[in-house]
Amino acid sequence: MKKLSIYLSVILLTALGACSKKNGIDGKNAIHPIDPIGPASKDQLVTLKSGIVVEQKGNNYYWGGDILLSSTQLKALDESGTLFTKRPDYIGPDTTINPVFNIPMKSGSNNEAVPRAFSQYPTAYNMWAMVRFTYDANLPAWLKNEIAGILTQIQNESNVRFYNATGQPTVDPTYGFAYPYIDFYYVGNLDASDSYVGRQGGMQKINLADFVQYQPGAIIHEICHAIGMFHEAQRPDRDTYVNLNTSNLKPNGLAQFSKITSNYYMLGTYDFNSIMGYSSFTSGINGVSTFVNDVNQPMYTKKDGSYINQGYDLSTLDKSWVNTFYIPYIARSDVYAELANTVYKQDGTVMTAQERLNLQAQLNNGNSTPPNCCRIPNNF
Ligand SMILES: [Zn+2]
Repeated sequence: MKKLSIYLSVILLTALGACSKKNGIDGKNAIHPIDPIGPASKDQLVTLKSGIVVEQKGNNYYWGGDILLSSTQLKALDESGTLFTKRPDYIGPDTTINPVFNIPMKSGSNNEAVPRAFSQYPTAYNMWAMVRFTYDANLPAWLKNEIAGILTQIQNESNVRFYNATGQPTVDPTYGFAYPYIDFYYVGNLDASDSYVGRQGGMQKINLADFVQYQPGAIIHEICHAIGMFHEAQRPDRDTYVNLNTSNLKPNGLAQFSKITSNYYMLGTYDFNSIMGYSSFTSGINGVSTFVNDVNQPMYTKKDGSYINQGYDLSTLDKSWVNTFYIPYIARSDVYAELANTVYKQDGTVMTAQERLNLQAQLNNGNSTPPNCCRIPNNF
């Protein structure tokens, strides 16, 4: 997510270094760099074999602005136009079965599933049970405090749970596999923060810049990428809800609006309040933007021409998605799946005590009572 204001004026070129000129991601000239746009550009657009346009900054590749791509994802995007090599057979959203837990999705008084979503196609191998994370040693105290507050806030209002593994082993001592985890990392005075989408395996960074100090919603936004969510403006049906201002968008700007057309999960209508939405306007440096010709004109608008505001917190419908695909586990050292006292349903209501126990039994081979041991400390 880019910072919204224009009053930070540090150019990024020196920090990022010159763009790499190498062609191709696999040595076969698979991709075709386009020249950077103007002297203020920090990005190099790259058109993949599949036709998808991504951005290159140094050795990193991005999709849709702030979505970092792993080498596996980049290769898959290049060759097949999809993020995942193991493509699940997408046949449209199934509103009756949860694809992560494979249990019925029932919610609300009418007993229908009501999640709103635009996300990666959620599966047991790209979602998290608990989101393991570390604070990188380079974080300043103010940023660590801000992250801690936001993790607590997200936990209070939804089912996703985080586990603080700072200082703990990164490899399982018994079986030798690398733990999947997020490392919150400080990148200083840049104009963008970024994250991978979904659980990658091993360490994956969420890079946070100074501007999140006064735009904390950007931290929530990057965390939501890491737990599986995409940008609203990249929905394949977004043209039904918004108009792109194509005469104002430079190629880098247009690349922010690349539609995601495979391996997604989408229900419900466009959510203009989503934390995964973007403002109609982009920031610039001294009035110059790599995305638009005129920073005073919008990148895109609603169909009626009105402007879209940046989300600043999980919207009701964002929470619906999180509560559909995450379960609030308590950190334990054994294999029992113990639930927090508050478990949200997809419609935002809270499970009754009996409903919670029923779900806990369902997750533990019928046993609704956790062993009286084994909770482990988990402080942010
Ligand atoms: Zn984003």
